[in-house]
Amino acid sequence: MADPRFFLPADAALFDDALRNGTEITLSEKASHHAMRALRLRNGETVTVFCGTGREWRGTVRFDAKAGYVALTESSDPQREPPVRLTLVQALVSPEKLDWIVEKAVETGVSEIVLTPAARSVTRLAGDRLEKRLQKLRDIAVSAAEQCGRNVVPLIRAEASAAAAFQNTQADLRLLLAPGAPRPAAAAGGIRSAAFAVGPEGGFSPEEIASGEEAGWSAVLLGPRVLRTETAGIAAAVWLNTVLGDYPRA
Ligand code: SAH
Repeated sequence: MADPRFFLPADAALFDDALRNGTEITLSEKASHHAMRALRLRNGETVTVFCGTGREWRGTVRFDAKAGYVALTESSDPQREPPVRLTLVQALVSPEKLDWIVEKAVETGVSEIVLTPAARSVTRLAGDRLEKRLQKLRDIAVSAAEQCGRNVVPLIRAEASAAAAFQNTQADLRLLLAPGAPRPAAAAGGIRSAAFAVGPEGGFSPEEIASGEEAGWSAVLLGPRVLRTETAGIAAAVWLNTVLGDYPRA
């Protein structure tokens, strides 16, 4: 089984120094608690730590009454980021669906998630509630990265409207997924980044689709079946990883 992995928000130089000097790094309170109480790790077990740069460090863990400590033994730079940078623009949907979407987007290699209210979004979020929600989603992204082996934690940000999200999201290929679109989704080789926008349960409004097209997005169809909002972004990430990313091709 793969080592338990812990994200520690610290400078990579700190880990490299600890590895060079043979000193221990201290796990955060949250990571210590998770390692001790949930995973029930014991002194001497091997763990992996990462800080979001792509590099990871292995070491052996030890606990005292206060925290967990890792004596680092090696570092490596495994390639687990897709060769095409993927951005998901997701219209606000219910909290349970959003949690699920973020977790699966991280697992399928999405690097950035942009949340946007949409005319037909049932869920509205602003101010403190939005900040709390973003924090929870960022925690979910960290857990998913720990679990799936990514050493980069995807970014999550919020925009004030779909038009703003379309305007402020750049990529070589930008696909606005719409079940009523006349053209199928297509991706030509040579692109380094792709973004796809997914509407809420009721879809994007015609005005939102027009604002996306004005901002340079292409409204496209992803297969002949209408997918649920929580399926569409994940399906798009898998499709792109198959045609241009790091999934196997025949
Ligand atoms: N009745 C709505 C369906 C929305 S499905 C409508 O007709 O718009 C929720 C979202 O998933 C859509 O806004 C779209 O972004 C995406 N989606 C689902 N199935 C799709 C498909 N086959 N092609 C493109 N986008 C799709």
